[in-house]
Amino acid sequence: MRPLRQLGELALLDWIRKRAGGEKGAGGKNLLVGIGDDAAAFRLTPGKAALATSDMMVEGVHFDTRYYTPYQLGFKIVSVNASDIYAMGGVPRLALFTLAAPPETETGFIKKIFEGVLAALGLYGARLAGGDLSASHSGLVLDMTVIGEADGVIKRSGARVGDGVFVTGPLGDSACGLALLKEMAEPVAVEKGASARDKLKRLSRKWRSSLQWETVKPLVVRHLMPVAKRPPGRVLTAMLDISDGLLLDVSRLCKESGVGVRIYEDKIPVSGPMRRAAETLGLDPLALAKTGGEDYELLYTAPQGQKRKNMGKNKGGILIGEVIPAGRYMVDAAGKMKRFKAQGYEHFGK
Ligand SMILES: [Mg+2]
Repeated sequence: MRPLRQLGELALLDWIRKRAGGEKGAGGKNLLVGIGDDAAAFRLTPGKAALATSDMMVEGVHFDTRYYTPYQLGFKIVSVNASDIYAMGGVPRLALFTLAAPPETETGFIKKIFEGVLAALGLYGARLAGGDLSASHSGLVLDMTVIGEADGVIKRSGARVGDGVFVTGPLGDSACGLALLKEMAEPVAVEKGASARDKLKRLSRKWRSSLQWETVKPLVVRHLMPVAKRPPGRVLTAMLDISDGLLLDVSRLCKESGVGVRIYEDKIPVSGPMRRAAETLGLDPLALAKTGGEDYELLYTAPQGQKRKNMGKNKGGILIGEVIPAGRYMVDAAGKMKRFKAQGYEHFGK
């Protein structure tokens, strides 16, 4: 048990450098100079477009350390960045990671964050190329920049009237997972160190219904350790990742493309565990699927009726609606059409 202030920055840097050098990602061949010099040097594949994106996770704003293990925090900061690179039609290659932590933080905790970062970078085939370390006066701040490359960039602005609107997977799992984590963090009368199963047993009295850990686990994991989705191998006209909720993100796509959209409520994919958990918590599963953030599924538009052979392994996601000239509408199961507003997560309130 050693706080950061005892280990010091140089010793930590040495450890990171060794660990990062040991992990060989596909991004490795692009990296000319990695951690340890004044700046990273890299070469991107000739003819490809370079992509760069940043995301920050601030304790108390984006996360609560009661819910996350340090490994999960490290993993998540990579996934949210990788998701943005995939959403442009590219692949992640290199990452710069900056971490600020209070000096009394356990060294082991910090190392676990880096292990999560390196494991996720390995998963996406990218390398840690550099970053910065700083002390913080209150809480943790994780900041990452990911460099990627793409053959052709897919923007938010290319949707055309008549295109289908697709998502890559079920929505609302992450928001439901967060709601479960909040409930489970409430002081329930169980002994210290009680397992998640024990807590769920106690909570089922309050909920007047029971949930198995097998139902809860995929939702909680989806929130704490999301895995970025790769775009399907087919012709796409516009794409973005769903980070702030379907209604808000589809509205962004419409605005950038200068089009409208019609979404069919009963086509929005909802997972079985999410439906069961939401109902137990007294939440509307469909509302979670429409406005819950942090799913990191991709939302894209594509011409309808493409031949199967052009679609690659991922057959093209789930069709949830179509692009129309103007207006944003939701069609309910009874066929009634209603306008919707951009609702979801926004920083700085409204
Ligand atoms: Mg995004």
